[in-house]
Amino acid sequence: MTAAEDDWTEAVRLLSSYDEVALVCHVGPDGDALGSMLALGLALRARGTKVRASWGSEPFEVPAAYSSLPGLDLLVEAEQIPEAPGLLIAFDTGSTDRLGSLADRVETANDVLVIDHHVTNTRFGTVNVVDERAAATAVVVVELLDRMGLPLTAEIAAPVYTGLVTDTGSFKYAATTPEVHVLAARLLATGIRHDIISRDIWDTAPFAYVQLLGAVCSRAVLEPAEVGGLGLVWATVTGEDLERFGLALSDVEGVIDVLRTSGEAEVAVVVKSDPADGLLKVSTRSKGAVDVGAVCAALGGGGHRFAAGYTSADDTGTTIARLRAALATTPHLPV
Ligand code: 5GP
Ligand code: MN
Repeated sequence: MTAAEDDWTEAVRLLSSYDEVALVCHVGPDGDALGSMLALGLALRARGTKVRASWGSEPFEVPAAYSSLPGLDLLVEAEQIPEAPGLLIAFDTGSTDRLGSLADRVETANDVLVIDHHVTNTRFGTVNVVDERAAATAVVVVELLDRMGLPLTAEIAAPVYTGLVTDTGSFKYAATTPEVHVLAARLLATGIRHDIISRDIWDTAPFAYVQLLGAVCSRAVLEPAEVGGLGLVWATVTGEDLERFGLALSDVEGVIDVLRTSGEAEVAVVVKSDPADGLLKVSTRSKGAVDVGAVCAALGGGGHRFAAGYTSADDTGTTIARLRAALATTPHLPV
């Protein structure tokens, strides 16, 4: 279900009743989480609102792919988000646990505005604008800007474009509707350097990443009989891998995109060890015949139908065994 007219009206009302706002997005922010947050943050600041933006996970470091985005000066460390904000705005966040150390602000804030596109969104705000048909949270932000009558400048268009290309996989995923291309045209017309934005996201990595890919992919396992015969491919990124190649967890987000090119497997899985807490971050992707979002939700996580994840406190062997079992019984969707 998309956001009702009343929700939009309430959201616009909330945004005009506070002169100071706290913006938060999900832990380990990706292009859409960060992009949608910075875009609205820039628009509100240009209008005269005091804006602080953050996320509740360590390390508090902007991933290299997004380090040239406008609006990074809006970011503050998580502790600098007020203990009891007037208005808290959560971006690209389906449930409060995804806010990490900032989840408690949902309880202490006077008002909470949830801006999102996850089907699994729990509507934890006092006002929720959740459009599950939107290709990205950034799309929802643009609709809000339009409804508020705020201009979509080049500075704002850059983070919006970042969210849009991230969540559509460069306009390749099924979520890429005609509306997505219409919005992309509008963004390009502001004069943004979309070529540099895309290169920073997709085509730039340290040499050490290329070497890590080689090591990780050479250990990948293909199991054609799994997922009810549709095939599973999985790989691990261990703490030793990260240490050996001098990379952070946020540097290896793209490993799943290489692994899932395996034509013999419907589902691809990357199990990454998080040096911050020693837990395993599981990334899953399907090609359209399996709802990995539902599978991950059953394992304590969530996400979208064809791209989802969860955190596992088990060891790698147990984690894969449990996931295999869940995937074996999941229904196959018509493709
Ligand atoms: P990724 O595999 O790129 O980390 O995440 C893919 C998608 O799965 C994200 O956009 C997010 O919606 C969802 N996701 C990943 N990890 C988690 C998790 O631990 N909990 C929940 N609820 N969703 C997750
Ligand atoms: Mn998103």
